[in-house]
Amino acid sequence: MNLSFESPQHCDTLIIGGGISGLAAAYYLRKKQPQANIVLLEKEKQLGGKLRTQYIDDLILEQGPDCFITRKPAAYHLCEDLGIVDQLQARDPTQNFTFIKYQQRLCPLPEGLINLIPTDPEALARTQLVSTAACERLAAEATIPVREDTSEESVASFITRRLGREVYANLIEPLLAGVYGGDGEQLSIEAIFPILVQHEREYGSVIEGLKQHKQQANQAVDTPFFVSFKQGMGFLITTLGKQLSDVDIRLQTQVLQVEKIKHKKTSYCVTLADNTMLTTNNLIITTPAYITAKLLEGMDSELYRLHDEVLYGSALLATFAFNRADVSMPRGYGYVVPRVEDSNVLGSTWSSQKWPGRAGADKALIRVFLNCYGSDDLLAYDDDAIYAIARQELQHTLGIATQPILQRLQRWPRSMPQYNLGHRTRITQIEARLKQHPGMHLIGTAYHGVGIPDSIALAKKISGVEDAT
Ligand SMILES: Cc1cc2nc3c(=O)[nH]c(=O)nc-3n(C[C@H](O)[C@H](O)[C@H](O)COP(=O)(O)OP(=O)(O)OC[C@H]3O[C@@H](n4cnc5c(N)ncnc54)[C@H](O)[C@@H]3O)c2cc1C
Repeated sequence: MNLSFESPQHCDTLIIGGGISGLAAAYYLRKKQPQANIVLLEKEKQLGGKLRTQYIDDLILEQGPDCFITRKPAAYHLCEDLGIVDQLQARDPTQNFTFIKYQQRLCPLPEGLINLIPTDPEALARTQLVSTAACERLAAEATIPVREDTSEESVASFITRRLGREVYANLIEPLLAGVYGGDGEQLSIEAIFPILVQHEREYGSVIEGLKQHKQQANQAVDTPFFVSFKQGMGFLITTLGKQLSDVDIRLQTQVLQVEKIKHKKTSYCVTLADNTMLTTNNLIITTPAYITAKLLEGMDSELYRLHDEVLYGSALLATFAFNRADVSMPRGYGYVVPRVEDSNVLGSTWSSQKWPGRAGADKALIRVFLNCYGSDDLLAYDDDAIYAIARQELQHTLGIATQPILQRLQRWPRSMPQYNLGHRTRITQIEARLKQHPGMHLIGTAYHGVGIPDSIALAKKISGVEDAT
């Protein structure tokens, strides 16, 4: 209940959420409308959402994302706009190996991967990740008939059908799990990799389509595929924060609900946790779907339902620093673990080898991602139990038995939206429903892509700023 008799403050644009989606939207809207009164509301006491970097002595610790891809160019373009391209960092090229843990061994990723898909059966054979029969099956991909049924298909079904069961289970599934943290039997190929479906239809072969498109892409792009910042991903947030000094950013400000003002067609009123209200004609909501559902519950029961249905996976990330002299590691960026290994660990990133400058020369910085799906939900475990599982993994796989000099745990409950079967239909329904609410925009990772570039691209799109690509 609002006990104040003053009328609510009106702002030209109101943004809910100060993660990368909200900040990018504020940045591009400010560029387009220099005079507009833009207010951004963030529940936490810092900006950035899932992008968080911690600085401890000579260590740079990523608590969430550690990089973004340049193939989807919106994040790179934002860096250009912000004038911080010179602060970008590529992965250390001298460590250019990534592994898959298979039958307790670290096998290198095969050469010739395009969009996570192996395109060179001979290179795959050299990794010993799959059997000879599986490599032969991959080599015969072009002979597999094109699926005529156009109904939505799961990632597991599509990849198994085109490339074979072993390639899916031992290679694609663990690579996907790192990005989506979900179940390939449920994830929709159309929602996650629409290009692969197109390649099947257009070329009769996914591999052929990928090769053709790689040639075109190679002519266009000369930036590294994965990039981060020398100072860690938090640098993007602090830079945006500085450039938004004329946006009214309010931290520790939680929005509880959104209502439509009945007598005015396009106006919205948001209620904050302290019961104050704000009104706007241009409302941008960037929160995860289950929060957006709650915000809209009283205003539109259909949008509530459609958002409430979106499933989210959770993530757990344990970070350790060791004395460099105490650990001996292979060259490389880290490894992923397929489900067939039946492990609690999804993978590990060797941050101090992957990104130069993340730790003093006498230290090794390692991240371990833990599995949060299935019956044994690690989120319920206490910190010590999770550290113990992660350290056991490091001992088994890398022989690191020594005590860490630092350990940190980041829990990310309900942090990874699952683009399961039905996702695209849901998005169409949300977009149709949104037509009834002019001036309200829903962005973030629940809709058209789960990564940082996707978030920025959507923010840019609703801000009306054209991207070059
Ligand atoms: C462990 C992990 C690793 C990842 N690694 C990568 C990677 O390496 N590369 C990559 O591209 N992507 C990665 N991602 C995905 C990436 O983090 C997201 O694409 C991106 O952070 C989404 O930003 P966002 O602003 O849409 O959402 P968020 O970062 O979730 O921001 C939403 C904001 O809204 C705020 N909020 C919530 N409720 C309210 C409310 N009621 N009122 C006001 N504010 C509210 C939240 O506090 C938050 O700040 C990773 C994700 C996870 C979980």
